[in-house]
Amino acid sequence: MSLYLKPRTLDEAASLLAAGGAQILAGGTDFYPALGEKLPQGTIVDVSALREIRGVSIGVDHVRIGGLTTWTEIIREPLPRCFDALKAAAREVGSVQIQNRGTVAGNLCNASPAADGVPPLLVLDAVVELVSAAGRRQVPLAEFIVGNRKTLRRPDEVLAAILIPRTLENATSAFLKLGARRYLVISISVVAALVQSDGMGRVADAHVAVGACSATARRLDELERDLVGVLCVAGIGDAVAATHLSPLRPIDDVRATAEYRLDASLTLVRRALEACVVKR
Ligand SMILES: Cc1cc2nc3c(=O)[nH]c(=O)nc-3n(C[C@H](O)[C@H](O)[C@H](O)COP(=O)(O)OP(=O)(O)OC[C@H]3O[C@@H](n4cnc5c(N)ncnc54)[C@H](O)[C@@H]3O)c2cc1C
Repeated sequence: MSLYLKPRTLDEAASLLAAGGAQILAGGTDFYPALGEKLPQGTIVDVSALREIRGVSIGVDHVRIGGLTTWTEIIREPLPRCFDALKAAAREVGSVQIQNRGTVAGNLCNASPAADGVPPLLVLDAVVELVSAAGRRQVPLAEFIVGNRKTLRRPDEVLAAILIPRTLENATSAFLKLGARRYLVISISVVAALVQSDGMGRVADAHVAVGACSATARRLDELERDLVGVLCVAGIGDAVAATHLSPLRPIDDVRATAEYRLDASLTLVRRALEACVVKR
């Protein structure tokens, strides 16, 4: 037996979730496949009619992406160039049909280690906004996803928005995904890079994140520090050493061995950084 509820406002959704025991449904592209042959059980709160948490707006300090924003809407939205990696990731999420239904919040809350939306949002220093009947709180995305399919979201909270500080908006960014085939594939490794120039041709700030190679996508902090001051020219990838990937903990699975994932990630990180400096 299951109870299906479709609130029209965020307040209504929050009060339904406050009763406890409900599951949230958005685009359903992770929700339904996870059920396999089973039917949904318990209370389902379908948030897909909450217009107030859909779409992108540009504020004074940050860009706000409503949690219900679909990947297609990310692709179509005119955004500063630091969002190029996120747009490229959006084009790689499944197929056009999946991009039309799948939402950014669904990708983050599902917390797959291979979620394509996570590395490009990590390099943008994204913060998630969670809303419940008890109030609103913000958590950096880097802290929000704590493990394979585990987040800090409480069951009564809706991921209402993703906030991106505008400080990085002139940076260039790139996204690269490796799978066993070109389309409709779960990533073997997925890399996002962002490079901010100091205006004199050197790196002022660099952010690099790798997904599908640990329980959660990871920023490569030591590499980011070592890139500061490096010339923003072709060859920047030579600054990346295999040791910079030491925070990653890839696994052997049906898609690839751990060794292959690490080797491929090294190449992808180098190529993503090269792509960032070519765009300058
Ligand atoms: C054929 C296919 C191909 C795919 N390919 C890719 C791919 O290439 N890359 C990739 O990263 N993903 C892929 N996916 C996974 C999926 O499409 C994405 O993760 C998508 O962004 C999920 O969004 P959704 O709105 O459909 O989430 P749903 O399925 O509705 O929900 C997913 C989870 O998030 C929770 N949730 C959803 N919205 C909220 C919210 N606002 N607040 C709190 N909790 C919420 C739900 O309770 C559920 O646990 C694919 C899926 C399919 C079926």
